[in-house]
Amino acid sequence: MDSPQRMCMSCRRQYDKRDLIRIVRSGENIFVDKTFKAAGRGAYVCHNKECLQRLVKHKLLSKAFKCEVPPNVYAEIEAEYDR
Ligand SMILES: [Zn+2]
Repeated sequence: MDSPQRMCMSCRRQYDKRDLIRIVRSGENIFVDKTFKAAGRGAYVCHNKECLQRLVKHKLLSKAFKCEVPPNVYAEIEAEYDR
């Protein structure tokens, strides 16, 4: 069974979905989707710290979702790297 590949929005490499952090925009809500099943528009970032830094620095999430992303969302993503 092959697992779905998704692109990290920061390094643009393809990864196994399970190796990525999924962020979802559903209407006005933006959140880290730990279940990988939430409905809405998804964006992915890999576990490479450099990708996180680039994501924050260049506000890649705002670009992916074409809207303002509140700082707490970035904090939520960062928390995923500390696990
Ligand atoms: Zn990456």
